[in-house]
Amino acid sequence: MTSEPPTEHELPPQTRPAKSIVLVHTGDGKGKSTAAFGVMIRSIARGWQVAVVQFLKSGTWRVGEEEIGKRLGVDWWSIGEGFTWDSDDLTRDEAMAREAWKHARSVIEAGTHRLVVLDEITYPMNWGWIDTDEVVSTIRERPESVSIVATGRDAPAALVDVADTVTEMRKVKHAYDVGIVAKKGIDY
Ligand code: ATP
Ligand code: MG
Repeated sequence: MTSEPPTEHELPPQTRPAKSIVLVHTGDGKGKSTAAFGVMIRSIARGWQVAVVQFLKSGTWRVGEEEIGKRLGVDWWSIGEGFTWDSDDLTRDEAMAREAWKHARSVIEAGTHRLVVLDEITYPMNWGWIDTDEVVSTIRERPESVSIVATGRDAPAALVDVADTVTEMRKVKHAYDVGIVAKKGIDY
């Protein structure tokens, strides 16, 4: 099937630059975190200070992107290393997710990083481990020069609302469906 090349493109009625942008990558297809790291690369290229906070235990297989990020000067915090667990009432994972959020919030509020990636943050939000309203208000009231990328399936409606750009990765096929396991160099 062919189609005509576009002759003119539509602009919104008024355009303006923004001091910062909030992006959400959600959906059940592959690419949410990969696209966040793509944005990270662009921010690094502009000399911005970048922070990444990962909210799910990634295991040792995921260290590739963390290692390269750190090598490029990114401040990187990942659940499973660094965050303390000092609660008797909460499960270890819940307590660590809360610590990770407390830390992410302070990084956002400090305003020294121009990009903050909140990787897989939708999961602890949806499990009730961290307060969605608090995450959303922290993002809404952030310092004006701080851009945010949040990733994970099933982004809560309030997170979608506060974002400027929301992309839903839709799975058309995934190799795992036919038993192909995550591939080094591609998936991690
Ligand atoms: P990626 O990190 O590759 O961009 P993602 O962030 O969109 O993936 P996650 O839910 O964070 O998706 O999953 C991380 C891992 O699970 C990756 O190895 C990815 O290839 C794999 N994965 C992503 N989507 C699917 C899917 N629909 N079915 C099976 N595995 C998936
Ligand atoms: Mg991911």
